[in-house]
Amino acid sequence: MKRRFLSFDEARSTILAAARKHVLPAERVELDDTLGRTLREDIVADEPNPRFDNSAMDGFAVRSADVASASTSTPIALAVAETIGAGRVATIPVGPGQAIRIMTGAPLPTGADAVVAIERTSAWRPGDDDPDGVLGRSATAEESDPARVEVRAPVAPGENIRPAGEDFPAGERLVASGAVVTPGVIAVMAVLGHPWVEVSRMPRVAILSTGDELVGPGAELAPGQVRDSNTHTIRAMVRSVGAEPGPSWHLLDDAEAVAAAVARVSAKADVIVTLGGVSAGDFDPVKQALSRLAGVELWRVGMRPGQPQAFGVLEDGKLFFGLPGNPVSSAVVFEMLVRPALWAMMGRAILDRPTRPARMTEAVTSKIGRRDFLRVRLDGADGPPWRAQLTGSQSSGAISSIHRASGYAVIPEEVASLAADAVVTVIDPT
Ligand code: AMP
Ligand code: MG
Repeated sequence: MKRRFLSFDEARSTILAAARKHVLPAERVELDDTLGRTLREDIVADEPNPRFDNSAMDGFAVRSADVASASTSTPIALAVAETIGAGRVATIPVGPGQAIRIMTGAPLPTGADAVVAIERTSAWRPGDDDPDGVLGRSATAEESDPARVEVRAPVAPGENIRPAGEDFPAGERLVASGAVVTPGVIAVMAVLGHPWVEVSRMPRVAILSTGDELVGPGAELAPGQVRDSNTHTIRAMVRSVGAEPGPSWHLLDDAEAVAAAVARVSAKADVIVTLGGVSAGDFDPVKQALSRLAGVELWRVGMRPGQPQAFGVLEDGKLFFGLPGNPVSSAVVFEMLVRPALWAMMGRAILDRPTRPARMTEAVTSKIGRRDFLRVRLDGADGPPWRAQLTGSQSSGAISSIHRASGYAVIPEEVASLAADAVVTVIDPT
């Protein structure tokens, strides 16, 4: 099969166009289980928050005009008509010369237009050496007359009141479909009383690793054999981007076996990822199986690491990614091309990771026409701008560079070399 050359952007847009045709259905999930999932409904406030005017303080709900002239030397006495805690509603209004003792969160009684903090009243006992009363305590019923309170300071209308709708009014769209559910999104849905939420079904990703030389963890290694690390790395990456690992098999370098396995796992997955076997070698079984996988093309993508790849939509509509076998290559291609596709299938609004500018600590070379993703460690100890230090060997087999890196420095197609201190864009993959 002829290999097609694509720039990184062409590869990405081809993949995203296919992924957008395969947006997964939404499912209804219990609120507490939605963290990290992708919202598939707009969250619109059907009521304001707070729902009613309420007290921001423990104190006394008053008519502000009644206490306009109050001071420490000339306190104003009010009759305490009732006491209400959070969750209770006053049974009577506050009349002239009256107050209702009120706790934080309780609804403001009618008639009152402000709350005097308890610290500004006779129901508060300042500490001996604490003239501001900041370290004081509430007076006990024996110490203060519960039927009467002396107010020692004026309050402005509205003071110490959290008005209805202060946080958000009814009708406001608080979170749009396509957002990732964070603890803050859960807070908003909880305050609106949503017991369950519409989120995207998680894409199931089947992982097929290929290679006669590969041995899983736990088994003895014969001479020449290597550990299958990619399966575990990619399975973890699948989970970390909010998708779900599907069947995960190891295959020998046998094109028949690869074609048969793809057909079998495809029934149980939305996306099939093969690992290895797509480069120029004689024993590359994924490449050899492509004649039996209609819709899949062999690619050479203008990126490093990760040039040899395969991609296509299988006859049953499943997305197929043939990732290169070198451990760093498969991880980088997953992050740069498979992850955005999975996010598009979930209906996510934002497919890009955040980026930040940083200065390279050393000179680097690249090649015109190729986009390099260098593994770098970001160091912000001296404050901005951040410094991006290569993680060491940029070999596509240098597995430790994956965990040492805190970002990917992008060297664009038109750049062949960069001096030390040059500013680069660093993708933050977390
Ligand atoms: P390939 O793309 O199959 O030619 O593999 C390229 C290099 O990556 C070879 O050194 C392989 O042994 C290694 N490799 C392939 N698959 C894996 C894997 N699943 N885990 C670790 N190394 C792998
Ligand atoms: Mg191989």
